[in-house]
Amino acid sequence: MQIIDGKATAKAIKEEIRQEVDSIVSAGHRPPHLAAILVGHDGGSETYVAYKIKDCEEVGFRSSLVRFEEDVEEQVLLNKIKELNNDEELDGFIVQLPLPGHIDEPKVIETINPQKDVDGFHPENVGRTVIGLPSFVSATPYGIVELLKRYQIETSGKNCVIVGRSNIVGRPLSILMSQKSINATVTVAHSRTKNLEELCASADILIAALGSPGFIKKEMVKEGAVVIDVGTTRVPSTETKSGFRLKGDVIYDEVAPRCSFITPVPGGVGPMTRVSLLNNTLRAAKNNISG
Ligand code: NAP
Repeated sequence: MQIIDGKATAKAIKEEIRQEVDSIVSAGHRPPHLAAILVGHDGGSETYVAYKIKDCEEVGFRSSLVRFEEDVEEQVLLNKIKELNNDEELDGFIVQLPLPGHIDEPKVIETINPQKDVDGFHPENVGRTVIGLPSFVSATPYGIVELLKRYQIETSGKNCVIVGRSNIVGRPLSILMSQKSINATVTVAHSRTKNLEELCASADILIAALGSPGFIKKEMVKEGAVVIDVGTTRVPSTETKSGFRLKGDVIYDEVAPRCSFITPVPGGVGPMTRVSLLNNTLRAAKNNISG
């Protein structure tokens, strides 16, 4: 069994990005610039945005944070997005989700210029991904595919079962895994799937993205399978300073011995998600340079 080290892989990719930034700046261009819009003061969202800004610093990107209070009017937010769409000093931006209930999230996403949509959530980017055109792919699926490639995991003709069909993980990942460059045979499972245990046990590549800690038990995993654990649920812990720790969807200790490859939580998919946003921003910056 080999542990897929997302943390080390992300570190290596960050170094590659940092070198590309050096070349961009040496050629007389400004560094890539990412902005984040944060609405309200949700603890999780604050943490994620802080990480994104720190990641930018580490690779030499510029970053900007635009903050609004929880009760911001939808139109004010949309106006800011339109302003960022036209800001030539900015390559890409994200709107940290979830947004407060009074704001129409799809409308917000559709207002983002697809060429600056480095989260890859705009329908134009999703549609382009579906038909295999160049696009910004959302960070978690992008990161998972990159991990499989870097670990040279055979995907062609393999049975891939993805548990979860969200717009940010399961569904786009199913599209990527079935593309001609990857060639897996994909099944997407969800809360109405029957015989889930047998289905999972038939997978050569099992990707758990449901957000239910410890859901995947050893009986659900075929001997020699590749297991990717996307789940990150915060559970209370007395052992950490923050008072919580992250738990995956897979019971790691009992599943790992059966696997050929497995991602841990934390240190698996999470760091790759973060680095994928940097990759998308770098691409946006290069697109701007080449016009
Ligand atoms: P989500 O929007 O809540 O979607 C969960 C999906 O799992 C849904 O499609 C749901 O089915 C399915 N599901 C839930 N319970 C199930 C069950 N008992 N059996 C079968 N399917 C079930 O979640 P998400 O945003 O995709 O996130 C999933 C997990 O990944 C969460 O733990 C999240 O924190 C984590 N995550 C991690 C990263 C990272 O970077 N590591 C990034 C994003 C998300 P229905 O559609 O039928 O409701």
